[in-house]
Amino acid sequence: MVATYYDKDADINILKDKTIAVIGYGSQGHAHALNMKDSGLHVVIGLRSNSKFVTPAKEAGFEVLSPADASKKADLIMVLVPDEFAADVYKNDIEKNLQPGNVLAFAHGFNIHFGFIKPPKDIDVIMVAPKGPGHMVRQLYTEGAGVPDLFAVYQDATGKARDIAMAYAKAIGGTRAGIFETTYKEETETDLFGEQAVLCGGLSALLTAGFETLVEAGYQPTMAYFECVHELKLIVDLIYKHGLAGMRYSISNTAEYGDLTVGPKVIDAGVKTRMKDVLKRIQNGEFAHEFVDECKAGKPNMEKLRANAKAHQVENIGEELRSKIPFLKGGKLL
Ligand code: NAD
Ligand code: MG
Ligand code: MG
Repeated sequence: MVATYYDKDADINILKDKTIAVIGYGSQGHAHALNMKDSGLHVVIGLRSNSKFVTPAKEAGFEVLSPADASKKADLIMVLVPDEFAADVYKNDIEKNLQPGNVLAFAHGFNIHFGFIKPPKDIDVIMVAPKGPGHMVRQLYTEGAGVPDLFAVYQDATGKARDIAMAYAKAIGGTRAGIFETTYKEETETDLFGEQAVLCGGLSALLTAGFETLVEAGYQPTMAYFECVHELKLIVDLIYKHGLAGMRYSISNTAEYGDLTVGPKVIDAGVKTRMKDVLKRIQNGEFAHEFVDECKAGKPNMEKLRANAKAHQVENIGEELRSKIPFLKGGKLL
């Protein structure tokens, strides 16, 4: 098992006399900025003047500058804009404002690993990637806890890059939960694989196929939704806390026997062969370039696929069902 580092292993003092610019104030940006401020660090925010996040950032007590001015002022620049815009923001606002010995940081390795951003040799390049959404990074910090982080060093010009990455992780609350060391390559490739093949892509296709199978066989869509989608939360909670074996301990023997005998028939060797293809396309950069080209074209394919998926019966039934369960009502994602 890879080493786990906690509060005692990291020293925030290495960041105490530095100015930290957080570029972007979205999901991760607001959480990193607020947590670091509460940890006693000097944080400024870089945002375009027309951003809807300028007001909330100012109201939270931050100095808000343009991305270029924030970068110029800072010793450490954390880039927390969406991955598809980061290369442009770097080219237009950050690159010319980098001084030797500065630190460039990311929460995901995409742009550095695939070469969309090529940093100069005389700066540190680090990653601190919380393994959870931004609102959890903030909420858990305010409760005295934290979200675990992955951290990595891509380039160490000062000889202090690793200590700085660990200090950063401590300042956002990561070392309260535990932080784990990785590389840009490993974080980027495993993150993309997990979200494509398992967590987001694989899962939503699995749920949808199960739902369709029951509905096409004449069962009520509501029942199909309960059995193939809604109940997932209960199963995932068990796996999260107790692992697969713990989940199997909790379900009925009937369910467990069906799980063990039928699961591998549905998710068979063919699925794994295709997963290996998915991984290959990630490793050789094909997926990354496809995504960047799609973004440059204004995301036409993504918009179409998103609209089609949203119009699927599984979504209509789900929305109706959630509206009837009182404690889920109004639980819309912001
Ligand atoms: P987000 O979409 O929530 O926020 C983006 C922020 O960037 C907003 O403040 C937006 O106004 C600003 N922005 C957008 N375009 C800009 C531009 N051209 N110039 C300047 N600012 C611009 O993004 P996010 O989900 O917080 O993702 C940020 C980074 O964190 C990404 O690298 C992502 O992979 C990584 N990450 C996200 C999560 C997550 O849970 N969302 C988890 C781990 C890592
Ligand atoms: Mg990801
Ligand atoms: Mg059941």
